[in-house]
Amino acid sequence: MQVELLDCTPTPEELVCRAARGDYSSDWVGSDVPFAEVMEPVEGDTIDEKKQTLMDHLMRSGHWGPFEHPSATFAVRGVSRSCMAQITRHRHASFDVMSLRYVKLSGEEALEERFTYPETFESDEVVSREGVEEIEMSAEERGELADEVYQKCIDAYTDLVEAGVPKEDARMLLPIGTKVNMTFSMNARALMHLLNMRMKGDAQWEVRELSEKVLAEAKEWMPYTFERYEEKHPQPLSP
Ligand SMILES: Cc1cc2nc3c(=O)[nH]c(=O)nc-3n(C[C@H](O)[C@H](O)[C@H](O)COP(=O)(O)OP(=O)(O)OC[C@H]3O[C@@H](n4cnc5c(N)ncnc54)[C@H](O)[C@@H]3O)c2cc1C
Repeated sequence: MQVELLDCTPTPEELVCRAARGDYSSDWVGSDVPFAEVMEPVEGDTIDEKKQTLMDHLMRSGHWGPFEHPSATFAVRGVSRSCMAQITRHRHASFDVMSLRYVKLSGEEALEERFTYPETFESDEVVSREGVEEIEMSAEERGELADEVYQKCIDAYTDLVEAGVPKEDARMLLPIGTKVNMTFSMNARALMHLLNMRMKGDAQWEVRELSEKVLAEAKEWMPYTFERYEEKHPQPLSP
């Protein structure tokens, strides 16, 4: 799985502060007013300190509106259709997902490139809220079973497409572990909500992994906001 910050609002935390200052002052906060002037009444010796003071205040008081102005677009490579179905439940994001109506999958690629292999196909134990449990099938058998089923699926799909069945119908034989790519855009507030839901210990491992990679990119984009967010986000499940 790969996640890349594809595009974003260029000065997001300045935008949050400028919008918020417009809430608390009758002065115009348009771009013709220097940012330092907009922030002048805020406590702090430097512009960075002033930004932190204001954003701290917003986050502590649950004043999330200003965080809806900056947006980011993420490119995601190689998540299962299961993970894609989960992330696309978030209604404040915009998505483009690789379409299996239009894209013809090749049967030539290695199975690992085409399909998702969860860790529990290989590890000897599974860690859950109930504790650590052993898996009663050898890793070798599980690996062989997954390879066999995935190979049958891609072979059957390829046979149907080559026989003239439309891709949109042949894809019915592809498993939920089939990997797709997607692009999605969200504002910072909606993104924090998504991370809250999907980094929780009881969220599925793949969407948690995706969320962790998105958070790493978001910290590059809005360092103060997402580092502060990370301090508070729910802890992952541990054994
Ligand atoms: C661990 C876990 C298990 C889950 N299991 C299931 C499952 O078994 N089956 C299943 O179907 N889904 C499941 N979900 C999905 C979940 O129910 C939500 O649909 C999904 O997480 C989207 O989050 P959200 O509802 O907060 O909405 P978002 O779309 O992210 O919206 C953000 C917020 O906006 C507000 N909002 C948006 N739209 C509306 C609206 N129409 N009306 C009122 N308020 C709105 C809400 O406050 C919402 O929290 C699961 C999610 C998690 C994290």
